[in-house]
Amino acid sequence: MNILVINCGSSSLKFQLIDSDSEKVLAKGLCERIGIDGSRIVYQPAGGEKETTEAPMPTHTEAIKLVLDSLIDANKGVIKSLDEIGAVGHRVVHGGEKFAKSTLITDEVIKAIEECNDLAPLHNPANIIGINACKELMPNTPMVAVFDTAFHQTMPEEAYIYGIPYEYYEKYKVRRYGFHGTSHSFVSKRAAEMLGKPYDSLKTIVCHLGNGASICAVDHGKSVETSMGMTPLEGLIMGTRSGDIDPAIVEFIAKKENKTAEEVLKILNKESGVQGISGFTSDFRDIEEGIEKGNKRAKLAMDVFAHRVVRYVGAYIAQMNGVDAIVFTAGLGENDKTIREMVCSHLEFLGVKLDDAQNSKRGEDLIVSTDDSKVKVLVIPTNEELMIARDTLALI
Ligand code: ADP
Repeated sequence: MNILVINCGSSSLKFQLIDSDSEKVLAKGLCERIGIDGSRIVYQPAGGEKETTEAPMPTHTEAIKLVLDSLIDANKGVIKSLDEIGAVGHRVVHGGEKFAKSTLITDEVIKAIEECNDLAPLHNPANIIGINACKELMPNTPMVAVFDTAFHQTMPEEAYIYGIPYEYYEKYKVRRYGFHGTSHSFVSKRAAEMLGKPYDSLKTIVCHLGNGASICAVDHGKSVETSMGMTPLEGLIMGTRSGDIDPAIVEFIAKKENKTAEEVLKILNKESGVQGISGFTSDFRDIEEGIEKGNKRAKLAMDVFAHRVVRYVGAYIAQMNGVDAIVFTAGLGENDKTIREMVCSHLEFLGVKLDDAQNSKRGEDLIVSTDDSKVKVLVIPTNEELMIARDTLALI
């Protein structure tokens, strides 16, 4: 069956059409600048050229219509009619405490997702717009919502309760939720497969290090701790996000710079992290180039980033009382051997040993620790779309 996977942002939409039998991507692409001048669709059929077309997309409905038109186009299309799409899987950012699993989308489910809007005001409304647009264009096709937060609903209370008045949790559900759940789940399961061990027998730490970054402790197949919180701002230093800071800084900067709390939070989300420290980029490739050229702030950004990763990995080893496998994934985790070396050099006391030849490879599932390393270190390219397609198939 062909499954259309949709990941709707506020002004963008990523898609993949996946054949669930072979798990191959038949076509993929994205729509950018939805609702803004200069909107365009990038479309690429498997084995074909990437094609960019400018087209008006005042709303997500037009964007999804363009995606569907491309998929059935006589020349570049990969299916003959929309009947060949068996189901649609939607990435939904926040499922709050309502969703501990992926779910078939009904009107009640849409309402429940809307009730989580407060917790993810930038993301959830866009996800719902995408769901409604698909419903309008393919009214009889079953749809599934796959939540970024769901995998972490197994976290124990002591991991998700903040040290603030409990009534804020009771009244407003202010607590830690965690994100990147689809990736942490996919990658930790794949690690167990690669190690030939039952998933529920392992203590695994997944380092999802991309532009957005988070770490997850997976204890016997369940997420028990993760570094993002009520929003994705908590935890690691990221491309443009600050990660953990002393909350008193918000008021301090607001006063000094004559800004509102909202403005300071925007800075913490969009102008901080690696971008803020380096002063010139949020992209780790530029950071590495900067380090090679002797740029001190680039080096500092990388060091601060790595320091925070080590802090979380160390904490999670203690939390789980041990670790069997540490997995690196996402843009930086998959591609950058240096960050893996920097982190693992702090774990030699546990008997972690990297195999330099393995660690220098790229783009495939790899065990990068030596055979005698006491803790296995793996690199596994994440594949959130495939995980969404698998969940979608399972539910319909
Ligand atoms: P997201 O999905 O959060 O946007 P990705 O997982 O795509 O992020 O990761 C993007 C990050 O990965 C960028 O900061 C980018 O610089 C980094 N990255 C990608 N390729 C490389 C590479 N070859 N070396 C170092 N960093 C890389």
